[in-house]
Amino acid sequence: MPRPILATIDTEAMSHNLRTVIGRLRQDAPGSVPFVWAVIKARGYGHGIEAALEGFSEADGLAMLDLEEAVRCRELGWTGPLLLLEGFFEPDDLDTLVRYRIGAAVHCDEQLDMLATSPVARQVDVFVKLNTGMHRLGFQPDEFRAAYDRALVLQAGGVLGQLGAMTHFARADDDPDVTLAQIECFRRVTDGLSGPVSLCNSAATLTPGLASGIAGDTQWVRPGICLYGASPFADRSADSFGLRPAMTLSAQLIGVHRVPAGESVGYGHAFRAPHEMRVGIVACGYADGYPRHAATGTPVTVAGVNTRLVGRVSMDMLAVDLDPVPEASVGAPVVLWGAGGPSVDEVAAACGTIGYELLTAVTSRVPRRILPIPA
Ligand SMILES: *Cc1c(COP(=O)(O)O)cnc(C)c1O
Repeated sequence: MPRPILATIDTEAMSHNLRTVIGRLRQDAPGSVPFVWAVIKARGYGHGIEAALEGFSEADGLAMLDLEEAVRCRELGWTGPLLLLEGFFEPDDLDTLVRYRIGAAVHCDEQLDMLATSPVARQVDVFVKLNTGMHRLGFQPDEFRAAYDRALVLQAGGVLGQLGAMTHFARADDDPDVTLAQIECFRRVTDGLSGPVSLCNSAATLTPGLASGIAGDTQWVRPGICLYGASPFADRSADSFGLRPAMTLSAQLIGVHRVPAGESVGYGHAFRAPHEMRVGIVACGYADGYPRHAATGTPVTVAGVNTRLVGRVSMDMLAVDLDPVPEASVGAPVVLWGAGGPSVDEVAAACGTIGYELLTAVTSRVPRRILPIPA
């Protein structure tokens, strides 16, 4: 028997989440529902490209970072638009972009140079990226129009196909004023341009009235994390938006023992039993992607009962408090996060990080079981 740990990927939940997000956008502005790029970077936020294609088959487009992931989408039969959010990195990439009809963000002059001199670039769809204050990727407001004009010339010459404009929000999860200022900057700089625009990540897409308030011939929102059933907000659960967890990380107890009062558990003896207690050992550790810095008290569910992690997470195992689950024995099911356990956001909050990091950190040695959408 393989080690009892499993990441179960519920593609029906992914599909449900996409429909939930679209439903919210529709409620917001029935007359002008934006197109949706489902963001599937980092192997579909750790869920796998195959699962993402199954779960997001109703998305208008798929957005990612790796060329290899984009090609994989085509090989798996995806015929809709694809967008590389960091664009391309060297001239040779353009060959693949053209061959597989992959669109790209263009955020720097070097990328425009590559397009201008490439003998193969033909009809590549691009979104020119404006830096409205995130200061990560994109042309500065005073450089943008020149870059866009270069792109228009390339479009007229047949190098570029569709031409749009995009930006990315830095604080859509916690500061609406910053987001509104970024939108204002985008409006000012792109005023008068035709073509599609793309601005909203999950947090902005889930903020009522925000996506619908952005003018543009055609708008493409770019939700990621919410489609996997985790929340982009520190103070609002995914559940409160009607979203369902797409990944359940589960394992089993492989050892149960009694720890006398005053004895300590695991490396560094980081947890000391205040009284005699039962402790369970779970087949999940940091080499599976469970965060090593999860401290005593991090929520975990054993045999359907909520309890807590105790002591330090080791490479292949972690320990849990079995006092609330006196009947649990070796083989008892453990949910680290997901359906039937704490949410990935609750676990993340307990260890000072975000659900994004936990979902994308599950390692390749953890078997994945993809639950298909029932016919
Ligand atoms: C990751 C990413 C998104 C999606 O962000 P979420 O917070 O997961 O919704 C959208 N746009 C860009 C450019 C990104 O890098």
